[in-house]
Amino acid sequence: MNPRKIVVVGAGHAGGTFVALLRREGYDGQIALVGAEEHAPYHRPPLSKSFGTSGTGRDEKVKWIYDPGYYQSQGIELHLRESVTAIDRDRRHVVLTGGGVLDYDLLVLATGAEPRRLNLPGEGLDGIHTLRDLADAERLEEAILSGAPLAIVGGGYIGLEVAAAARAQGVDVTVIEREDRLLARVASPALSGLLSEHHRASGTRILTGAQTVGYVCDSGRVGGVRLADDTVVPCGTVLVGAGAVPRQALAEQAGLECGNGITVDARCRTNDKSILAIGDVTNRPVDGLEIMDGRMRVESIPSAVDQARHAVDLILGRPAQDHEVPWFWSDQFDLKIKIAGIVHGDYETVQRGDPAGGGFALYHLRDGRLVAAETVNAPKDFMASKRMLSSRCPVEAAALRDPATDLKVLIAA
Ligand code: NAP
Repeated sequence: MNPRKIVVVGAGHAGGTFVALLRREGYDGQIALVGAEEHAPYHRPPLSKSFGTSGTGRDEKVKWIYDPGYYQSQGIELHLRESVTAIDRDRRHVVLTGGGVLDYDLLVLATGAEPRRLNLPGEGLDGIHTLRDLADAERLEEAILSGAPLAIVGGGYIGLEVAAAARAQGVDVTVIEREDRLLARVASPALSGLLSEHHRASGTRILTGAQTVGYVCDSGRVGGVRLADDTVVPCGTVLVGAGAVPRQALAEQAGLECGNGITVDARCRTNDKSILAIGDVTNRPVDGLEIMDGRMRVESIPSAVDQARHAVDLILGRPAQDHEVPWFWSDQFDLKIKIAGIVHGDYETVQRGDPAGGGFALYHLRDGRLVAAETVNAPKDFMASKRMLSSRCPVEAAALRDPATDLKVLIAA
């Protein structure tokens, strides 16, 4: 691979990290980064974690991945407020909304994901929000600071982080989750249970096994969420945080292989040797995953950064490195939740530390090896679990459970 013109579609965390890393590692060809938003790449995690606390102006609120002036200083062309409408794989160019074209030797798709639409009656009413970008967060912040009761459809990361931040503003919050527990997609039943207790204790109402079927109108805007049993959760604001779907239409139209996300290999290659894909839009292999043919969409910033590194190595002709163990973090109240590995399949859970007394960890083992670990306010356990997962060393449940065990010794053994 010796591309002289690289075009990156999508100016999110994956795209922004990739272009900066590519330049930093010595690539001296042309780089163009195309993004539909008006902003250079910024950090999305803060968007769901606090409201009314980060200053008033946009400049105070936004945390840039790199200062917007950085790209020009590095000779990286930024095409903001522009979308790619088509990929011409034969001519090797992309077509922009305004009709312009950008030629490429290598194309990198980093188009991310977008909030899942539920297509329910009343969905277009004022007061119903989703959350993905800065503009969404600004509208949601205004609604939360108005003090109107908030109903959140979906008890995943977005729902719980916003619930905690809204309760901190004294807002009345109800979380409506269709599964029988919170964070069902990503967390163990044990962690779900502990988080439910925490949210309930903070005053959030949590309805599980509750199917949302539509929205009730009150004076021209949303006044409630209707559930399948015909009860209505009254509210003045709704946030729908019911998962994310990959933005893969462009790739599909271009005939790239896609399933739930663009199919890539461990080096971010699609089925076109001139096109790579990275970030939330990809369906990638995950070491040690024993379900879904060992592949999934890993919706996390660490995964996007890991793939950006792998793509850069590939382009620069370097050998493949090991992948970082997938990991995730979430801040809710004073809880710093960090999860290493993918919680899946059957496992035995070992608890280390006491949830009532500060930090603790839930280690999930199968056949004497760690599958995943969920830690709360326990950074050392988190670091140790990442090392155990990447080394795949055998671990004994009793040793893990014993607070006197030095985790470093356990890994070295
Ligand atoms: P999520 O974590 O997938 O959670 C969505 C939850 O909503 C799931 O439990 C889902 O259940 C449930 N749900 C789906 N349809 C529903 C319905 N009709 N009624 C009630 N509940 C329903 O997704 P998210 O919280 O919306 O987050 C979106 C994206 O942002 C994800 O990529 C997430 O990783 C990312 N994000 C991450 C963080 C973080 O890592 N800290 C923070 C914010 C956002 P099913 O599983 O049954 O579909």
